Amino acid sequence: MEKWKFEDLKLSEEINKAVEDMGFEEASPIQSQAIPYILTGKDVIGQAQTGTGKTAAFGIPILEMVDLESRVPQAVILCPTRELAIQVAEELKRLSKYKKDIGILPIYGGQPIERQIKALKKGIQIIIGTPGRVMDHMRRRTLKMGTVKKVILDEADEMLDMGFREDIETILDKIPEDRQTILFSATMPRAILDLTKKYQKDPQLVKVVHKALTVPSIEQIYFEVKQKMKAEILCRLIDMYNPKLSLIFCNTKKKVDELVNTLQIRGFFADGLHGDMKQQQRDRVMTKFRNGTIDILVATDVAARGIDVDDVEAVFNYDVPQDEEYYVHRIGRTGRAGRTGRAFTFVVGREIYKLRDIQRYAKTKIKLRQVPSISDVQEVKTSEFIEKVKETVEQGHLSQYVHWIEKLTEEEYTSLDIAAALLKIAVTSENKEDTVEDDYNDTGAAAGMVRLFINVGRNHRIKAKDIVGSIASNTGISGRVIGTIDIYDKYTFVEVPREYAREVLVLMKDNSIKGSKINIEPANRK
Ligand code: AMP
Repeated sequence: MEKWKFEDLKLSEEINKAVEDMGFEEASPIQSQAIPYILTGKDVIGQAQTGTGKTAAFGIPILEMVDLESRVPQAVILCPTRELAIQVAEELKRLSKYKKDIGILPIYGGQPIERQIKALKKGIQIIIGTPGRVMDHMRRRTLKMGTVKKVILDEADEMLDMGFREDIETILDKIPEDRQTILFSATMPRAILDLTKKYQKDPQLVKVVHKALTVPSIEQIYFEVKQKMKAEILCRLIDMYNPKLSLIFCNTKKKVDELVNTLQIRGFFADGLHGDMKQQQRDRVMTKFRNGTIDILVATDVAARGIDVDDVEAVFNYDVPQDEEYYVHRIGRTGRAGRTGRAFTFVVGREIYKLRDIQRYAKTKIKLRQVPSISDVQEVKTSEFIEKVKETVEQGHLSQYVHWIEKLTEEEYTSLDIAAALLKIAVTSENKEDTVEDDYNDTGAAAGMVRLFINVGRNHRIKAKDIVGSIASNTGISGRVIGTIDIYDKYTFVEVPREYAREVLVLMKDNSIKGSKINIEPANRK
């Protein structure tokens, strides 16, 4: 598996700067291989799945080759779905942040065509579209292919599965023959090979070949999560399993810094390691991790390469790794020297396909688990504590404490109440989330519900259905379980079941409803 530093790929200053801002530390394996080939102008077949960095693998060379002086269509990227088209356009916009005034436009069905026509007139150089809508524009002559020099078929296998073959062929037939044709596909079935034979000239196949690696025999678990919930769930897992040392992997430097910050704010002893840090800084962090001053280390793959610590009891793939080999390297950091080890992987949406590839490559089984709720965490912590209490009773030597309890019982407290209160203090003082949990107790909601305050109301044209719609679509909880909604001029109260309150607060944070950015918090009874 060959990997390059972005500097070695001889890219423009503008792209290098953008890549740095995005926090990419190193080109992913598919990028290391595909970028140099695409830059030569030859036809390329890239075999890569979502999550490998494939968008930048074709996006970077395309951005490098666009003639910025000429404001005509130069590259067309075909995608199977509108979501992917939008995602690709966003990634290209981020990558071209320092390329002055480059015209990038996603065009897809479902969006008013007039708006797209108006945008196309502004001199777009890179068009990212679904085949149907691209054809539509060609027919209306609002998109002319005569000046197009590069065409990229992204997720070509998906497009064929969705029945776009004819559309793709019609589009390719209209693009001048002296073009460069690039095809990316996760799989290479017959139909794809036929397409490449017909439309590509002497294409170079680029794919990542892996060394066989053995996976340690440790418990491997994955959770299906929403991006915004990752930090919350990570904290729950650490609270629940209480690993001696934890190693958390993120795909970018930026994420490492953000996560370290979040964990420190929540009171965890965490620090980060990434390629931007000087050797001296890294050594300092590693010493802290080895001697237990911190028990959570957040790192990128590159930075973690040299780490050799025996007591890591849990590895977290906060981001699914971009390459199958990374997964094996990452989880190999735990379960060493006969110790117990666990590997947890957070999977968002379509990353599940990446996880399938990993399992196939590593010949391993990663099991799906339900995300633990706050009460699961409480339960585990409480039963652990009760075990400790039992042990302490067995050991005896308690007379000095019995004396205090006796004094309390004389003040008309029952020993049962005292014990329960002590248990509550003991398990909740350790639980860093509990202060927030307590905020739910006095919101003036119906039993089992929590009343939330949102700072938008009638003046912002908010109706009950907007609140329900927004909560349901952002959190995935059913609109039916949402309780009373009271809308006032400037704010709204909404009741949600207690077990969902935290999810709603995390997932709704910083969202907008009807164009107004919202603030949401537990309601104040007074
Ligand atoms: P893709 O495979 O194109 O869907 O990319 C998956 C994710 O990886 C996107 O969020 C990219 O921004 C990110 N990404 C792409 N290249 C790199 C890289 N070299 N290092 C870290 N993240 C990357």
